[in-house]
Amino acid sequence: ADVLTLDGIRKSYNVGTPVETEVLHGIDLTMQRGDFLALMGPSGSGKSTLLNIIGLLDRPTGGRLLINGEDTGQLGDSALTHLRGHAIGFVFQYHYLISAFTARENVMMPMLVDRGRPDTAMEQRADELLDRVGLSRWRNNSATNMSGGQQQRVAVARALAMDPDLVLADEPTGNLDTKSADDVFELMREINRERGTTFLLVTHNDDLAARCDRIVRVVDGRIAG
Ligand code: ADP
Ligand code: ADP
Repeated sequence: ADVLTLDGIRKSYNVGTPVETEVLHGIDLTMQRGDFLALMGPSGSGKSTLLNIIGLLDRPTGGRLLINGEDTGQLGDSALTHLRGHAIGFVFQYHYLISAFTARENVMMPMLVDRGRPDTAMEQRADELLDRVGLSRWRNNSATNMSGGQQQRVAVARALAMDPDLVLADEPTGNLDTKSADDVFELMREINRERGTTFLLVTHNDDLAARCDRIVRVVDGRIAG
C-alpha cells in the first residue's frame, strides 16, 4: 500500500459557528515509500493545517486519510495516537528539544513514551542514531550547548527513533544559515535513500525544493499545478 493517501481532504475551522471557514477544499495526494516531497505555498495557504491532519494531530472535516492503506477515519483516538507514534516522525522549525535533557535523552523520548523496549536497547538505538547524524561525541551534552544545525540533527535523530514510515518536516531549515540548512537537508536526503523513509518537507527554500523528488504547491487550500 502507499504510505500516504489523501482523498478529497477538507478542513473547516469553527464548525457550527457563524465564523465557520473552510481552509482546505479537497486535497488529493499520494506518497509512495521512498518519496521525498517538497510542500510549498504562501503563508496562510493551509500547509500547517494539512500537516497537522497528515500527522494525525487534527482530524479533517471531509475526505479520507490513509496511512499504509489504513483508513484513519475508522480509528479511535487511542489507535490514532499509537499510529502517530509508530508510523510518523516529526521535525519542526524550532526543534522542541528538551533543554534539561542530553542529546541522547532527547532521541530516546519517543521510545520512552512508547515503553516498548528495555532501557539499554533504547540507549543503544539512540546512540546509533546520534552516530548516524554525526553527533556521537555530543550525546551527553545538553541541547542548549549545541548550534542550531546540531540541534536540528538531534531532532532528525529523534524523528527516526521509532523507525517511522513517514517523516513530516515543517520548515526544519527555516531557522538555519545556508550551510547548516544544506547539511540538515542532505542528512534527511541520505536517510531517505538509505532506509526508504518517506519525507514530506515544508519549505520556502527554492534551492532545497529543487533537490526533492517532486514539488507540490498549495494555494488557497487547493493543490496548484
Ligand atoms: P500556512 O501553514 O500555509 O501558513 P495555515 O494552515 O496555518 O497556513 O492556515 C490556513 C488558513 O487557516 C489561514 O487562513 C489561517 O488563518 C486559518 N487557520 C489556521 N489555523 C486556524 C485555527 N485554529 N482556527 C481558525 N483558522 C485557522
Ligand atoms: P505558519 O504560517 O508559520 O505555519 P501561522 O502563523 O499561520 O503559522 O499559525 C501559527 C499557529 O496559529 C498555527 O497553529 C495555526 O493553526 C494557528 N492559527 C493560524 N491562524 C489562525 C486563526 N485565524 N485562528 C486561530 N488560530 C490560527
